[in-house]
This record gives sequence, C-alpha cells and structure tokens, in this order.
Amino acid sequence: MHDTALTRRHLLAAMAGAGIGAALPSGIARAANPAGAATPTATRGKDSIGVALVGLGYYATHLLAPGLQLTRHCHLAGIVTGSPEKIPEWQRKHGIPDRNVYGYDDLDRIADNPDIQAVYIATPNDLHKPLTLRAANAGKHVWCEKPMAMDAAEGQAMIEACHANKVQLTIGYRLQHDPVTRRLMAMAREKPYGRILKLRAEAGFHAYDDVDPANKPWRLLPQHGGGAMYDMGVYALNAARYTSGQEPVAVTARQEVVREHLFQGVDETMHFTLEFADGLVAECATSFGREMNTLRADCERGWYELSPFQTYDGLKGRTSDGQTFASTGTSPYQQARQMDDDALAILQGTAPLVPGEEGLRDMRVVDVVYASARAGGKRIVL
Ligand code: NDP
Repeated sequence: MHDTALTRRHLLAAMAGAGIGAALPSGIARAANPAGAATPTATRGKDSIGVALVGLGYYATHLLAPGLQLTRHCHLAGIVTGSPEKIPEWQRKHGIPDRNVYGYDDLDRIADNPDIQAVYIATPNDLHKPLTLRAANAGKHVWCEKPMAMDAAEGQAMIEACHANKVQLTIGYRLQHDPVTRRLMAMAREKPYGRILKLRAEAGFHAYDDVDPANKPWRLLPQHGGGAMYDMGVYALNAARYTSGQEPVAVTARQEVVREHLFQGVDETMHFTLEFADGLVAECATSFGREMNTLRADCERGWYELSPFQTYDGLKGRTSDGQTFASTGTSPYQQARQMDDDALAILQGTAPLVPGEEGLRDMRVVDVVYASARAGGKRIVL
C-alpha cells in the first residue's frame, strides 16, 4: 500500500510550480515542451547520461521527471516501480522503451542495461539503503534522496558499497545547488558581518489532519523512516551546518507530540540545539504540525537570514544593512541544477557537490538528536 496523502507542502509546491515564469539558470537547457513528451532516449548524445527513477511517487512525478526535461547532461531513460499500473503512462509521457522498465524484484537486471548510467532513489526512507546497495552492485551511479538512510551505520554501508563498485553516490540536497544557498555558504567562509553569534534554522509545515489513523502514510510510520526530523529536520540541520561552516560537537533534543492518535513512534515536532566548537549555538526545529521556514544568523556586526530558505523556488534573503537577494528560477529548477551538476561530475569523473559523506554527516547528528530526545533531552557530546 503506497502513500497517497497529498501534503500541504505538496500543494504549495504544485502551486509554486504553476506560478510566474522566470529565467532558467545558466547551464540548464530549455526543453521545447517541459510538460509533454521527453526527447527520446535514443537521440541523446554522449554528453548526457541515462537516469532511471526509482519510486514513482510525488517527488519523482512532479519534480524529478519535469526536472529531467530541463537538464542538458542527463535524461530520463528508465523507471523502477512496484506499481505496474503506473507504467503505461510513464512510458507514453516520457518515451521509455520496455527494456528500460523494472520492478523492485528484477532491479538487479539493470546491470546489463547500457541506456542507464545512474539511478535516482525517491522511495520511502527505509528503502534508501537496500536499493542503493543493489544499484551500486549493478554498477550504476546512485543519486539518493534525503534523508540518506535510517541511521549513520546504513549511510556508511551505502558509501562503502558505492566505493567498492567505483560508482558515485550523491544525496538529493537540492538547496545546496541553489545560488541563494551558495551565497549563504560563501558568507560562512567570508564572514562579512563578523563571527556568527547565534543561529536559528527551522523547517516544518502543518499536515496530516485528514489522515485515517488506521491507514497512515509512510511518513507517519516508524518502520519506513517517518517523522518530522527525518523528513524536514534534515533541512534545518544541514542548513545549520552549511551556514556555520562547522560540525556540531554536542546536541540536545526534545520532541513534542500534540496529535497522539497520529504520531506513535514518530516525532511530530522536534526542537534540537547544536553546539559548535567555537561556542556558537544553533537553535533548530522541525515539525509536521507547524509552519516554519527560516534560517537566520546573528553576527558580531549585523545579521542575515533566508526566509523561506527551503522551498522549491522563491528563496529570499535579506541582511541587516538592507541587501536583499532571491532565487530567480521557477520550480523545478533546483532539481534540474542538482541533476545536471551530478551528471557532469559523473561525465567528467570529478567529485560531486553533495556526496554520500555529506548525507552521512547529517545522519550522525540525526542519530544523536533521536538519542537525546529518547533520553528526555540529555545533552550528548559527539
Ligand atoms: P511518495 O510516497 O509520494 O512516493 C514514494 C514512492 O516510493 C511510491 O509512490 C512508490 O512508488 C515507492 N514505494 C516503494 N515502496 C513503498 C512503500 N512501502 N510505501 C510507499 N511507497 C513505496 O513519497 P515522496 O515522493 O514524497 O518522497 C520520496 C522520497 O523523496 C523520500 O525519501 C523523501 O524524503 C524524498 N523527498 C525529497 C524532497 C526534496 O525536496 N529533496 C521532496 C519530497 C520528497 P512506486 O509505486 O513507483 O513503487
């Protein structure tokens, strides 16, 4: 049984996607008909790798497949799905031949398919590790969605499997490919307002009021990696790390559940505090019960913030001295940028922008966030 719940975030993203047009970032090819049929696989040149999408759910359907219509260095070549009823529409819409269609049972056959160089895993979180291992063992590069895995041990195993098979592993932190986020990352290095004294990173939304407790979507089930921390908390955590330019040395976390009939064994809201070696403290939060979307750095000589900092488009930045900056792309430009960056790294044999190791650094902290919350908010040193 697959998740069919349409979250508020999904609705907002769909609305944003239908919004006013804006210039595509450079390096992303304009598709003649982004919403319609894809350029057939056979006509793509050597400078474009074939990608198989794994798990044809919301993200693959509404962001990744449309994103692959905008990319220059990769194209949608295949699909992996457990839902046979989805296959005809995907084949028709994207020109995917029978030989490039797989189920989870026969995924390993992909090893013999020269049309596909990379697989993009967009399934529930508990499947990220097993599918990564199978794709890597089949000799395919792996692009895996966030959170990388269920814990750091799984993340480590994924890195090792990709390393052993000499394939790249990248994690779908789309924001790290966005120019607005990259400007923030540069500020972490250049410190235009002096040292950061205080950091706040919050990512969450309100959803699931209409869910039947007897038929919960996977994001509310612990065995699939449900809960706000895995889903949205990694945005706040990742942002605290890239904004500070440091790794946390201690973590304190506290979870909060209001809708107890829905959130059993998974967190509805998580507050977590990250301490860094230079004394900086980041106050972070994530939630499936509250709207939050702010990243703010208070520094010695001013402040800067992004709000929102983690939408599919419309990222907005401002500073204490009146500067403003915003993303100019329209969804799914982030996904297109991310996939083109990752495809180029494969084609050129260079290190990817967001490798598995970056996902692993987050998973190590996620493990400690959950451990601290379970221990009633105990401060845990990493
Ligand atoms: P959906 O529930 O919409 O889709 C997941 C798909 O996975 C399903 O449609 C199904 O595809 C497949 N699947 C395989 N096994 C199961 C199972 N037991 N239960 C449910 N689905 C199953 O999820 P999303 O697309 O929203 O999220 C997928 C992944 O992408 C998650 O890891 C999520 O964190 C990440 N994500 C990342 C975003 C980003 O901005 N980077 C945004 C949204 C999601 P099929 O029927 O084809 O087998």
